[in-house]
Amino acid sequence: MLFRDIIGQEDIKNHMQKALREGKISHAYIINGEKESGKMMLAKTFSQALFCENGGDEPCGECPSCKKVAHDSHPDLIYVTHSKPNIISVKEIREQVVGDMMIKPYTASRKIYIVEDAQLMNESAQNAILKSLEEPPEYVTVILLTDNASSLLQTIRSRCILLNIQPVIKEREKIKQELMRTYEMPEYEAEDILNFAQGNVGKAYSLASSESFRDVMEDMLNLTSQVSRFRQIEVEKKAESLKTAGKNGEIDLKEYLDLLVLWYRDVLLYKATANLDYIYFKDHIREIRKQAQRGSFKNINSVLTKIDTSRSQIRANVDVELVFTLLMQVMKEI
Ligand SMILES: [Zn+2]
Repeated sequence: MLFRDIIGQEDIKNHMQKALREGKISHAYIINGEKESGKMMLAKTFSQALFCENGGDEPCGECPSCKKVAHDSHPDLIYVTHSKPNIISVKEIREQVVGDMMIKPYTASRKIYIVEDAQLMNESAQNAILKSLEEPPEYVTVILLTDNASSLLQTIRSRCILLNIQPVIKEREKIKQELMRTYEMPEYEAEDILNFAQGNVGKAYSLASSESFRDVMEDMLNLTSQVSRFRQIEVEKKAESLKTAGKNGEIDLKEYLDLLVLWYRDVLLYKATANLDYIYFKDHIREIRKQAQRGSFKNINSVLTKIDTSRSQIRANVDVELVFTLLMQVMKEI
């Protein structure tokens, strides 16, 4: 991947390419942005350019070093791994970063460490990496990737160059056309997906390629338009089927709730402003208008609050069927 092929993130690309041109590479970077927003792609392209035998502010993509980076087999590019899913331990940081740093690069003039999900480092792991950031060997660059830079120690942040991922807005039309072409989807579906991804290009592509997300979207749209006519028995049946679909992995319930928030946020916004500019589900404006007319501000706000509660209940393992039954009873009021 070349910098010029990465969509958006002009600030980060400019920063990295300027550093490459001037040969002023920092010992430590934080790339901060949500899941799938392209952090690894940027870190990898930067590493490739740093190792590239043909120099410049873009990797050539052809030389042996570039190829090794592309195949994740460059001996001087170290991806820090961890065995437990939710923690990077001090032992792992010591073995893979702190200790390893003392060994000179094998083939390149530099060693690069990429720590994915750096927010998972516990405090002692962070303290260990901090020590090496204080006086790193000349040839070392550490790149921390995180979705929550503020969870890193202030002392770490102050030693790193912080690069924040920005939502991609300018290239929206181009991405939409590409989604429609690649996944053979109608325009309204591509629009829905882009709205949901909120400027996260990687997320848009992975949602578009996910059969289940498209099912979730359809199910959610059906529910919001029909729930007001549901009798209690139908509410219960729907809650039961959502529970089953969630358990079987057919539907991501967290995504489902996220979509419901966007939907009712649209209804609320339309009720307040009657303006289409900031509506996500523009293609469903007739239904939105209908619900905005029917529901009071209080009703709609109660639904949004209830969705929020439902999210925390599901996180706390409250029975899904019960959570959705209660939620739909509030939705029915609109
Ligand atoms: Zn190259």
